[in-house]
Amino acid sequence: MKAEIICVGTELLLGDILNTNAQFLAKELAALGITVHHQWVVGDNESRLAELVQQAMQRSDLLVFSGGLGPTADDLTKETVARCFGDTLVLEPEILQQIQQYYASTGRHMPQSNEKQALIPQQGGWFDNKNGTAPGIWFYRQGKRAVLLPGPPNELCPLWHEKVKPWLAAEQNQALYSLVLRITGIGESHVEELVGHLFENANPTAAIYAKTGEVHIRITAMAENQQRGEEMCRAYAEKFYALLGNAIYAENDCTLQQAVVESLKKQGLTIATAESCTGGLVSQMITQVAGASEVFGFGFCTYANQAKHKLLGVSTELLDTVGAVSSQVASQMATGAAKVSGADIGVSLTGIAGPGGGTEQKPVGLVYIAACKGDDVYVAKLLVGNRSRETVRTCAAKRALDMARRLALGLPLPHTKKFSATEIAVLEE
Ligand code: AMP
Ligand code: MG
Repeated sequence: MKAEIICVGTELLLGDILNTNAQFLAKELAALGITVHHQWVVGDNESRLAELVQQAMQRSDLLVFSGGLGPTADDLTKETVARCFGDTLVLEPEILQQIQQYYASTGRHMPQSNEKQALIPQQGGWFDNKNGTAPGIWFYRQGKRAVLLPGPPNELCPLWHEKVKPWLAAEQNQALYSLVLRITGIGESHVEELVGHLFENANPTAAIYAKTGEVHIRITAMAENQQRGEEMCRAYAEKFYALLGNAIYAENDCTLQQAVVESLKKQGLTIATAESCTGGLVSQMITQVAGASEVFGFGFCTYANQAKHKLLGVSTELLDTVGAVSSQVASQMATGAAKVSGADIGVSLTGIAGPGGGTEQKPVGLVYIAACKGDDVYVAKLLVGNRSRETVRTCAAKRALDMARRLALGLPLPHTKKFSATEIAVLEE
């Protein structure tokens, strides 16, 4: 099958935004065994778009569009492609209702202009978009196909993975199966170093996605049926497990906090948190998981030194001498949280989230994280680097959750130093 990618948007032509959708679609189509012969960028202009579509239809079997599905007058991809494919657009009440509900849920009234997003082709069809108001659209005419996707990458990518990719695979009488491995505790470049050679495979394919504080690897197999696809993905996943081991904390949609709560439940353990620079982010993440109350009851948000001392019993002398951002204080925060709450595991974080407040000795992005269980306290020194406040906090929170997971499951805690609960945890001289 020969394909062309057509990205619509004057902002792309002007260089206002980077055409990441073209790269994404090109990679994805190649993984499906579909040959891409051309990539185009065209402005929000009906006649130039129509001219391009007509030419592309002569050459290729599949045209994949991104952009121009919005509610405003300059969004005209659907209308233009409908004319080229000789199809008529009709109102789909189900989509209209979804858009109205979306507006109602945000306390707003749907503008009249949004109605056109509920127009779908009479002969073609649509793909439900869970992340926005514009559905994906497809057209078919005499062996030629067009797929239209919304421009925002956070809508286009999930829509592609969930709906379009399986649809295209089915068109080729193939089933598509995907497995996502979720990794934390090691950065993207380190993951690449360990398993980079596994990304050079034709089927299954494997691709790496860097997230804040974690890395995902998506394995996708094309096979004659779902079961065979699953077997192929599972066999290929084993190669990753062999090299990454328990850095893979879960698969598919299971978040790190879900993995932590599950691990604690499995072992019959409870956890308490003591947070400074993350201000409750770890307890917020844990309580995102339904049923977290079984394992979590106490989260101490101890932002001030006084709070660390009063609520957790951190020594004022340590706070005055080595300071709040130190391995010693992190350790006492974790053991204090476990002691006061009676929880089996205590985790703590204290650091410099930035953007201000950094010094040469204690730069922005420095976070001490401690996790204790029984008489053991493990302390880690995390250097996120001079990144945004949100990034520092998220990376630190995920590292703390991973330490809790490892402690709960009896796994080793790499890049930490072990202390006894009663000693002063001096990580460095
Ligand atoms: P549109 O559907 O054309 O109104 O696009 C809506 C938004 O999606 C744009 O403002 C961009 O932020 C984003 N977007 C559109 N096309 C692309 C593209 N090819 N690559 C990355 N982002 C895009
Ligand atoms: Mg646009």
